[in-house]
Amino acid sequence: MNVMRKVHTAESAIEIAHLRNILESEGIACIVRNDRLSGVVGEIPFVECWPELWVREPGQELRARGLIEVALHSQPSGDAWTCARCGERIEAQFSECWNCAAPAGTPPEGI
Ligand SMILES: [Zn+2]
Repeated sequence: MNVMRKVHTAESAIEIAHLRNILESEGIACIVRNDRLSGVVGEIPFVECWPELWVREPGQELRARGLIEVALHSQPSGDAWTCARCGERIEAQFSECWNCAAPAGTPPEGI
C-alpha cells in the first residue's frame, strides 16, 4: 500500500521546492504536486493549484513537519521594507538597500 502524507502547502512553488530540497537532503523522499513551475494554471480554482509537498513514507511525516517548521522560521520575516535613505521598496530577503546600499534600519539623512 502506497500511502503518502501531505506535509505542506504554499502559494509559492519556490518555497515548496526549497522545502523539498531540505527534506531530501535529510533523506526524506518527497513528491511535489500541483507544481505550477511545470505547467500552466488552467481553469481550476486558484487555491486548488497551490503546490503541495508530500512525503512518501508515512513514518517520516512528523520529522518532515519538524524540518519544515525550522526551515520556515529561519527565513526572513517576509515583510518588504522601505529604505529610509532613498525611499526604495526592498524585498524582505535583502538586508540592505540595493539602490543606495544602506542597511535595513538606517535612519533617514538630513533630518
Ligand atoms: Zn536606499
